[in-house]
Amino acid sequence: MASEPVASGQGHCLVEIRTTDAMGKGLFAIKNIPRGTQILAEVPILAIPAGSQVDLDDDLPAFCAALRDLPKTEWKRLDELYCNTALITLERRAKIREWYKEKGITDKVGAPLNGKKLQDVAKAATKRFAIFLTNRAQMGFADKSDTGVFSYYSRINHSCVPNVHNSYNPGLQRLTLYSVRDVSAGEQITTSYFDSACRTRQQRRQETENWGFVCSCIACSDPSTEPVRARLFKLDQRLALYESPLRKAALSNPSPMARLFARSSMPLSLSEALTDAEELAELLKKQGLEGMPLGRAYRECSKYSIRLGLMSKAVEYAQKELDNERYCIGTETAHLQKDMVGAEYWLAHLQRLDKAKGSVGSSR
Ligand SMILES: [Zn+2]
Repeated sequence: MASEPVASGQGHCLVEIRTTDAMGKGLFAIKNIPRGTQILAEVPILAIPAGSQVDLDDDLPAFCAALRDLPKTEWKRLDELYCNTALITLERRAKIREWYKEKGITDKVGAPLNGKKLQDVAKAATKRFAIFLTNRAQMGFADKSDTGVFSYYSRINHSCVPNVHNSYNPGLQRLTLYSVRDVSAGEQITTSYFDSACRTRQQRRQETENWGFVCSCIACSDPSTEPVRARLFKLDQRLALYESPLRKAALSNPSPMARLFARSSMPLSLSEALTDAEELAELLKKQGLEGMPLGRAYRECSKYSIRLGLMSKAVEYAQKELDNERYCIGTETAHLQKDMVGAEYWLAHLQRLDKAKGSVGSSR
């Protein structure tokens, strides 16, 4: 089995790249890694600003410019990554060729690129663009954020029960990888390619098929976990509908059947919403999904507790969210201060509210 040790951001070698039997290359733990350990803190090989997100080719000029500026020694790292060859098209190659022509790119001796040379350069750049599209990761929290391709992160295979959480930290200017549970030496490092943990097996299968693979993780190969996953999906939908602007319209639909259906599809009170959110958090934990989805569930619990006037319960859930967040992204979270996205800022806000409430109470 081919292997290549990887130094983490903290200088430890905790993982290495190996060739797997069925999933191409993957990242594996070479030591026991306790929960909450920073495994990697990686800078991108190449990054581009957020594009239109309408057409993949809208990112093509930014990619070509970034590739032009990339030292040739880095090209090898890019070329080593997996490529979804369906993304290599003649049309795309023609667009890239036009870009090189328009920019008047020259060869090593300063002669303009044309003829076969231009064809070869455009062909190589088209493959690199396909590699970029196959492997790129968001470098921010907004929908429209820069995207980059990372040497080691790109090696991490998917699991519906991942053992790490990855996120880009703009303060550190690195993509960090933390173990969200204890990982044993020899275990493959896996992350979730989905943005939600609350999906049924059927939904997950459809999505992974779009990416060109079949997931054989424990959740996908053990049907006994499916009822819980289906329940997670239902709870997630119920809470989303409760917060949706469509809620009132659904509950006042002129059709009695539609109203009945709406009433059975969402919580009907804040305390029911809190019960749903608490069940969601509990089930995520039981399923070993102790990454950021669990943190988001704790935030829901905390928010509903406040709205019900249960301040100490709200603080308790905010503390749980913070403990969980530290396992997933560490303590350097200044970039999450705005709108109290980060658990630390949310907890501090609640503690201030709690204190103010206490001082009002004691002055009476
Ligand atoms: Zn799976």
